[in-house]
Amino acid sequence: MTKTLLSALLAVLTLAAMIPTSYAVTRDEIDTLITQANGLQDEQAALDQQITAYSSGIAEALEQKAALDAEIAVIAEEVAALEAKIADCEERIYAAEDDLRQAQVKEAEKYEQFCQRVRAMEEQGRMNYWMILFHATSFADFLTRLDFVSEIMQADQRVMDDLRTLQEQIAAKREELKESHQELEAANAECQVKQAELDAQREAANQLIIELEANRAEAEADRNILTEEAERIQEEILRLSETLAREEEEARIRAEQEAAEAYRLMRERMSAELDDFVMSAGSGGYIWPVSSHRITSTFGGRASPGGIGSTNHKGIDIGGVGYGSTVHAAKGGVVIISQYSTSYGNFVVVSHGSGNTTLYAHMSSRLVEAGQAVSQGDILGLTGSTGHSTGPHLHFEITENGTRINPLIYLGSGD
Ligand SMILES: [Zn+2]
Repeated sequence: MTKTLLSALLAVLTLAAMIPTSYAVTRDEIDTLITQANGLQDEQAALDQQITAYSSGIAEALEQKAALDAEIAVIAEEVAALEAKIADCEERIYAAEDDLRQAQVKEAEKYEQFCQRVRAMEEQGRMNYWMILFHATSFADFLTRLDFVSEIMQADQRVMDDLRTLQEQIAAKREELKESHQELEAANAECQVKQAELDAQREAANQLIIELEANRAEAEADRNILTEEAERIQEEILRLSETLAREEEEARIRAEQEAAEAYRLMRERMSAELDDFVMSAGSGGYIWPVSSHRITSTFGGRASPGGIGSTNHKGIDIGGVGYGSTVHAAKGGVVIISQYSTSYGNFVVVSHGSGNTTLYAHMSSRLVEAGQAVSQGDILGLTGSTGHSTGPHLHFEITENGTRINPLIYLGSGD
């Protein structure tokens, strides 16, 4: 019994420990996702670094551009000032040229007047300077005439001289203006070269900003994709973790229930086996039919006691029972015979199936009827000495597969 019970108990414990765990979600799957999510976080961090680098590059380029813009503004002001000066200078050159032309015209007019006068004097003869001098009547007259002529000549000469001086002054001024115009033009050209250089630098800064912004936008787009992917995986991890926890909880409850049920079954089986053990006290599942275990006649050949009874004894006789002791079914079954015969007296046969029967004879009374189901230990009748019997005892037989066998094989040797 103990061996059977132990193995049953072991089976229950093993069953409880080995509850099948075929979940829809496994811890491995979740771990894989976590590893994947960590990888994505590393990639995100790398992209964040790139984005930061691009952003600082852009900030730097913007600063550079702002500085260039300031320089360009200064240069533009310079250029504007220079252009204003140039315009002013050019106006003054034009004015000087006008003045010069006017002075030239005046000189030409004056010269023309002078020439006309000289020609008129020549034509008229008497107005000729030389004629005036030659026609002097006296030295005083000559001097007077000379003064007069020289006064006219000197006046004409002064006018001419003044005109020439003016022309020279104007020309000098014009030259001066032209010189400063040239200088201004040179400065302006220099400024414009500088401005073009700055414009080129600003354009380069703009290009750099555009490039960096494009790179940053690309990195940001990549990072957004990674972020979405990471979020998706996190959600998946959460979902799978919850599913796993739920399944583990369900499995735990199921395992508990199964273990409880297995334990209950084991306890049932244990008590049944204990009952069997108590009832049978031997193998074959038979119990003693009466409380006395005193064998007065064994199974097999013997001398017929007092000439009564079989000489080839097919059962055992159990004595020490007196009249009226209870006779119990050695095993559960169905009563197939309950009657009186001249040899067995009041006797009962119980079928245990498969051609196995037990027989109880010489009873004083029978307490069961044919067709009645009996459990092991049920009372079949009371002891007596009916039929071929020399005194109160129970004649007991066991038949297996149609052959009567020695009941003591199963019941033990008795007292
Ligand atoms: Zn007998």
